[in-house]
Amino acid sequence: MFPSFDYVQPKSLQAAITQLSNPGAVVHAGGTDLLTCLREHIFAVQKVVSISALRELHGITEGADGGLRIGALTSLHEVADHPLVRKRFSGLAQAAAEVASPQLRNQGTIGGNICQKPRCWYYRGDFNCLRKGGGACFAADGENQYHCIFGSGGICYIVHPSDTAPSLVALNATARVAGPKGVREVPLEKFHVLPEEDVRRETVLEPNEIVAEIRIPPPAAGTRSAYRKVRARRSWDFALAGVALALRFDGRRVVDSRVVLSGAAPVPWRSTEVEQAIRGRELNSTAIAAASKAVVSGAQPLEKNGYKLPMFQGVIEEELTRMSTPA
Ligand SMILES: Cc1cc2nc3c(=O)[nH]c(=O)nc-3n(C[C@H](O)[C@H](O)[C@H](O)COP(=O)(O)OP(=O)(O)OC[C@H]3O[C@@H](n4cnc5c(N)ncnc54)[C@H](O)[C@@H]3O)c2cc1C
Ligand code: SF4
Repeated sequence: MFPSFDYVQPKSLQAAITQLSNPGAVVHAGGTDLLTCLREHIFAVQKVVSISALRELHGITEGADGGLRIGALTSLHEVADHPLVRKRFSGLAQAAAEVASPQLRNQGTIGGNICQKPRCWYYRGDFNCLRKGGGACFAADGENQYHCIFGSGGICYIVHPSDTAPSLVALNATARVAGPKGVREVPLEKFHVLPEEDVRRETVLEPNEIVAEIRIPPPAAGTRSAYRKVRARRSWDFALAGVALALRFDGRRVVDSRVVLSGAAPVPWRSTEVEQAIRGRELNSTAIAAASKAVVSGAQPLEKNGYKLPMFQGVIEEELTRMSTPA
């Protein structure tokens, strides 16, 4: 059953920020994640602030520098389908197309996608775990088959659930965040919070801040991007293992690389080990084998998620092999 709460739909960004300054107020974008959290009483809410009337937060435009500006309320379907995204930032188009089902991609927004709450079944269930302010993590010695292999800090083992966030990190994107003190720019790479920094929060956002826009810089000549996701069900599911790649080629040689894993860690997880294994090298079978070995270096699997190690190795091998052949 839904708790009772106030509902407002401000007509300006400033009015929305003012509304969010009330205790217990939360942003409502497409509602595909938030409404489940409310129904399941995951966190207490006094006021729901719908930002859906803020027209300035909709749409995709090309910046003067050739980069991309994506309003936070742009639907995932629009991101996946936009000709400019598909042509120049194909990894992001692929990631958006991999989210959930067509219905959820029509309703869900890109802002909501990067801000969504974790899917750990203890967190979503009736367990007062560390992330909800309790005293223990139930996944550590419990049903941890869908949990992380990197970045837990031995504290909390969630995997960051978004498909688009790893791709945005790979593309070096920035979030423009509006709050009471004005607008600040946060690199996507620094947007999500590790458990050892603060186990109670997933992002650096203050309660009265709103992601207004995402900006992606123009890709350097020779850059190709891709997103690959392995999931249990084809219809819709979150990533068991995935990778977002942005590689800059000079012929067959990789001159720059950003490699970000999904389904791996509490935040989109940059694999500098894979980046180093392929940077400066021709993407041949030797380099790909080195990258496949490197992707699990430092991994700390739990009792029930050791299967993720060969899965990540396979994903890296297959996706790099695919990218080694020019389109
Ligand atoms: C069945 C199902 C399957 C799913 N599968 C996937 C999947 O495969 N991959 C995936 O990535 N996601 C998946 N999702 C998660 C998610 O619902 C969608 O990805 C969607 O993008 C969320 O966007 P929304 O606009 O509906 O967010 P909302 O539900 O409105 O908000 C989600 C959270 O973000 C906050 N928020 C929203 N917008 C902003 C903003 N602009 N500024 C600050 N905070 C904001 C809200 O307060 C809330 O906490 C799935 C969800 C469901 C229900
Ligand atoms: S993994 Fe995190 S969210 Fe899940 S039970 Fe442990 S502390 Fe809670």
